[in-house]
Amino acid sequence: MRLSCDVDLKNRLLPSHGMAGKSRPMRCSLAIGRRGSSDSNPEGAVFLMVCSAKNKTGTKYKLKENMEQVFARFIEEGKATLRLKEPAQDICISKADPLQLKNFLSVLKLGYKGQSSDLSKVHLSTLTPATTAQVERPKTKLVILRRSDYPVLERFPKGLESLRVNGCGLSRVDPRILELKSLRALDLSGNRIRALPNDPGQLSALAELKVANNLLERLPPSLCLSSLRTSLQFLDLAGNSLKFFPPQICDLASLLRLNVANNQLTSLPEHFGQLSRLRFFSAAENQIEVLPFSFMDLAMEEVDFSGNCFKCEMAEGSAAGLQRTQDGFPSLLEVAARAIKKQRVSYTEEDLPRHLYHHLSQVKWCVCSGPCFQPYAKHRVPFNLHRVAHTLVGPTAAPIQGFICSAFCLSNLQANPNAPWKCRRK
Ligand SMILES: [Zn+2]
Repeated sequence: MRLSCDVDLKNRLLPSHGMAGKSRPMRCSLAIGRRGSSDSNPEGAVFLMVCSAKNKTGTKYKLKENMEQVFARFIEEGKATLRLKEPAQDICISKADPLQLKNFLSVLKLGYKGQSSDLSKVHLSTLTPATTAQVERPKTKLVILRRSDYPVLERFPKGLESLRVNGCGLSRVDPRILELKSLRALDLSGNRIRALPNDPGQLSALAELKVANNLLERLPPSLCLSSLRTSLQFLDLAGNSLKFFPPQICDLASLLRLNVANNQLTSLPEHFGQLSRLRFFSAAENQIEVLPFSFMDLAMEEVDFSGNCFKCEMAEGSAAGLQRTQDGFPSLLEVAARAIKKQRVSYTEEDLPRHLYHHLSQVKWCVCSGPCFQPYAKHRVPFNLHRVAHTLVGPTAAPIQGFICSAFCLSNLQANPNAPWKCRRK
């Protein structure tokens, strides 16, 4: 029975001698085994052995009736502390596999309680010195810059936290990568990836995803609704062939940095302002003409819109950028769709007539925060980008487009044309 983990040995007597025991956790291999059989005890005493890279032969601690306490409250996080009576030491275990740690502690319990009969059923260690591999810190970072270095048959190291594979001509995201539970940063820039997976697999801790300079044409909506919704902070999609963003990208609630420079985007999703944590946004070298109304809700550090085709002039024949798009009353279809959105009715494709379902997918939001599909009017105003960002690269103003659901909202807007975002239904 061996356990690979980080161990911090703390002497409890040091503070009472005025010495602050400064120690750093070491990668260790813990083992439980028997040693030293005699006539009185033919099986020998049970020991706990702690081997590190510096001391592969290990230090042995007698177990029977020598454990003051075992602290196992954070066992699910791979942590536990063993408080020995003699010597007065605490063995602080961390970064262990929770399942292995549980097994280890249950065998340890048999050892210090002296339950020899139960212990004889368990496979114990022979207390031989640890090998180098057993006390080596697991690899957490891997950089692959050549195709020939890419692992073909072997697995990626299990505890990998950062993986960079650049310029290796990958055509898809390797399923073996999706199994890396601890991965926090994945950089697959400079490959030939055409599509991202719909499901991120086990990558629930992923905070940084870079897939710049690939051949992506779309971002799968389901990927934005997966565990990445809360974990992803940095998304780099620069230098691809994206033509539009799925609205679900606005669900990436933790996103701090978004880079979509050098794509073929013509617009941003209506709810883009939902990305309230966004601080750095680059959409340089795209074909964006107008920004959604919700863009005004953002508060960012840096924005780059250089190389886009903003048209700041007002629509022809309209007063103050206003343009009526609907005459008379809204259609029955429109009323039904608005009611479904307002009441937050959950629905599937089977529940609704097809044309209504299709209609619902084209939701726009009025300045009053109400839904509309065939807006009563739309208005376009030039917007000073300094109001949403400290640093601007490229244009300082951009047109912003909002929708108006009814004559009521239109009159509100006309009454307060300089601050249409304050137009709210009372
Ligand atoms: Zn409205």
